[in-house]
Amino acid sequence: MQTVLVAGGAGFIGSHLCDALLDLGYKVICVDNLSTSSEKNLEPLKSNPNFSFLKLNVVDPLPEDINADFVFHLASPASPNHHSPISYHVLALETMLANSTGTLELLKFAEKNSAKFLFASTSEVYGEPLVHPQKEDYRGNVSTIGPRSVYDEAKRFGETITSYFWREKNVDARIARIFNTYGPNMLREDMRMSVLFVMQALEGKPITIFGDGKQTRSLCFVTDTVDGLMKLMFTDGLKGEVVNIGSPDEHTVLEYAELIKKLCSSKSEIILSEPLPEDDPKERQPDISKAKKLLDWAPKVSLEEGFGKTIEYFKRI
Ligand code: NAD
Repeated sequence: MQTVLVAGGAGFIGSHLCDALLDLGYKVICVDNLSTSSEKNLEPLKSNPNFSFLKLNVVDPLPEDINADFVFHLASPASPNHHSPISYHVLALETMLANSTGTLELLKFAEKNSAKFLFASTSEVYGEPLVHPQKEDYRGNVSTIGPRSVYDEAKRFGETITSYFWREKNVDARIARIFNTYGPNMLREDMRMSVLFVMQALEGKPITIFGDGKQTRSLCFVTDTVDGLMKLMFTDGLKGEVVNIGSPDEHTVLEYAELIKKLCSSKSEIILSEPLPEDDPKERQPDISKAKKLLDWAPKVSLEEGFGKTIEYFKRI
C-alpha cells in the first residue's frame, strides 16, 4: 500500500483530499498544526485504520521514522479577509515561513524518500493580472511590499524553491496554481467571500460587499479542486509542470451575493460595506486549457449544486 503525506490535511481542501485518498486505498498521514483549521474536519477520517494524524508545524523537520511515496504541501494560512483572525494578514510571518522554510523541509523529505511532491500555489501569484484569463506562462503583476505580498510573494518563493528541487535535486515535483475554491469544511472565522456570504444570508444579516461588487471571481467546488490536485500528482510524466486548477466560470461578487441569498431563501440586504482593500484583484479567471490537455480535467459541479452543499453544511454546524 502506498503512503501519501498531506501537509495541511486538517484544513478545508486538505480534509477533502485526505478523504478522497483514503477512498482510493492510500495510507494517509495528515500533518498539520491546526493554526487555521479545526480537528473536527478529521473526525470522520479517524476511524479509518489507514489514516493517521501528526500535529506538527511544517517549518520543523518531520520525524525520522516517517516515510511516504507522495507529498502534498497545502499547509499555509489562506484567507485574505483582513477581518478574519486566521487570515494571512494576522498570520503574516507564519504564512511566509510555511511557504518558504516549510516548503524546503517538505521538499527535503520528498528527496530523501524519492517521493512525488505537489506544491499548492495560488492564483495570487498572478497578482492584479494584466492579461485575462490567466495562463500558466503569465508572470504576474504582484507588489513585493503591499499588504497581500506576505501571501503572494511567499507562494511565489514556494514555487521558486520547488522548481529548484526539480531542476537541481531531481525531485519529481509539480505546482498547482489553485484558484478560489469553496465548499464544506471551511471555518466560519475564515471569512472568505463564500463563507461570509453564506453565514450572513443564513443569519439574515446584511451581505457585505467590498467595493462596488463589480469585481469578478470564478469559484470552484472543493471536490473538483481535489480531483484536479490528485490528477496532477498521480498522472505520469508531469515533473516540473505548473497547472492552473480552478473554474473558468466567472461572475461578479454581486452576482454571487444574489445567488447565495436566493439559495438560502434569505431576506438579507446586500450592502456595499467598505472600499475594495488595497491590491484586491479586480478580475480573476483561470485559463484551464493546460489542465484539460494534461489531466483531462475540468470542473463538473455547478454553482447551484456546490452552494447547495455548502449551505447545507453551514446549516448543520
Ligand atoms: P485552510 O486554512 O483551511 O488549510 C490550511 C491548513 O494548513 C490548515 O489546516 C492549517 O492549520 C494548516 N497549516 C497552516 N500553517 C501550517 C504550518 N506551518 N504547519 C502545519 N500546518 C499548517 O486553507 P485551504 O483553503 O484548505 O488552503 C489549502 C492550501 O491551498 C493553502 O496552501 C492555500 O494557500 C492553497 N490555496 C487555497 C485556495 C482556496 O480557495 N481555498 C486558493 C488558492 C490556494
